[in-house]
Amino acid sequence: MSNTYDAIVVGLGAMGSASAYQLAKRGLSVLGLDQYAPPHSNGSTHGASRIMRLAIGEGEHYTPLSKRSYELFREIEQKTDTNLLNVTGMLTISAIDKATIQTEGEFFDKTVAAAKKYGIRHDVLSANEIRTYYPQFAVSDTERGYFEYEAGYLKPEDCIRAQLQLAVDNGCSINTNERVNNITSTARGTLVTTSANTYCADQIVLSAGPWLPELLEPQYESLFQPFRLVQYWFDIQEVYNEFTPEKFPIFFWQLPGIDEWTYGFPALNGPKGGFSLGVPDRSPTTTPDSIARSISSQEIEAVYREYVSRCFPKASKHCVKTSTCLYTATPDCEFVIDRLPHAPGIIICSPCSGHGFKHSAAIGESVAELVATGSSTIDLSAFSLSRLIANH
Ligand SMILES: Cc1cc2nc3c(=O)[nH]c(=O)nc-3n(C[C@H](O)[C@H](O)[C@H](O)COP(=O)(O)OP(=O)(O)OC[C@H]3O[C@@H](n4cnc5c(N)ncnc54)[C@H](O)[C@@H]3O)c2cc1C
Repeated sequence: MSNTYDAIVVGLGAMGSASAYQLAKRGLSVLGLDQYAPPHSNGSTHGASRIMRLAIGEGEHYTPLSKRSYELFREIEQKTDTNLLNVTGMLTISAIDKATIQTEGEFFDKTVAAAKKYGIRHDVLSANEIRTYYPQFAVSDTERGYFEYEAGYLKPEDCIRAQLQLAVDNGCSINTNERVNNITSTARGTLVTTSANTYCADQIVLSAGPWLPELLEPQYESLFQPFRLVQYWFDIQEVYNEFTPEKFPIFFWQLPGIDEWTYGFPALNGPKGGFSLGVPDRSPTTTPDSIARSISSQEIEAVYREYVSRCFPKASKHCVKTSTCLYTATPDCEFVIDRLPHAPGIIICSPCSGHGFKHSAAIGESVAELVATGSSTIDLSAFSLSRLIANH
């Protein structure tokens, strides 16, 4: 069999599995490569749940991606007869006086503005209304809420499985446990050298997540910094009925203080499974090889003290499970979906700054359009590489 393809996708996590499927769906000859066998728990896409919200407070340019992803995930569910997206509603809490929020102070207002602009069903709630509807959340009088009705959670591992299955069904070749060591642009295409072989393609989708810096030229490495993020599941057995998905929405809570926030999910695995939350990790940047994957009892105690007891006083201090993950942040915490200037056959499609999963199905579609036709339906200009190089 020939080793030449229209496109090679390097890395088959959230972005790569979506890209491989969408490329194959367009009739291109596609090879997908991964150093592991996705889904796996070494990168950015594991831990059983990812928030899906539609009105995006990170910036107006994201809502077209989230809305399209929502449609695509529903389509993928139908095509593969799997459950990927579950609607629970989402509660975003923030201080009324945004000057007390040190990070992303505009997030709440931008979320409400996006909901209004794109007709996304929502309510803005006072602290008293939050206490009435969701007494599990210990809000103060100086806080307010945004409730989005159609938000919910995605099952990240199942999303990858489903899209890889659809990629294969559409003729994509998938090689797992094959590491890409080198990518070189030549006059006859781009050569991809792996632990097993050398392949050639007109275009490469580089969706290597936290491993991306290793595959880039030195001048780009510092633009993509991997960080550690831990998900904690705390015991709620005694108050399980108050933490079920029917009673307890997904949440994002901007707390007063420097870089103080928490996000999380209801109890998704029965009374003994706990409810989960993530909090900022104070560790410096890391790498997939050097990240501390174990979680100390001191870390757990600190998360209970600083977040769980303060925000959800009915939860127990007993932590039933943890999961360590990596996310890759750019200097402005936005995405990069763009061609490399010195090698336009290579498209970077990975670093999603900790908020990329909800957009991944649409990112895969947009990247496939870029490869197939040279442009995408959704405007990707906000995710250019040049904005970071100019500011670097
Ligand atoms: C704890 C946590 C919680 C999050 N919560 C949310 C959320 O609620 N909502 C949301 O929208 N986003 C969330 N995110 C962000 C989201 O999960 C990421 O944006 C997304 O998963 C990134 O996927 P990726 O495809 O870029 O990386 P990955 O899924 O890590 O995929 C990269 C793949 O490339 C492969 N690879 C790398 N190098 C090579 C090589 N040299 N050769 C072959 N294969 C290679 C890897 O093996 C891997 O499979 C969260 C992130 C974390 C860490």
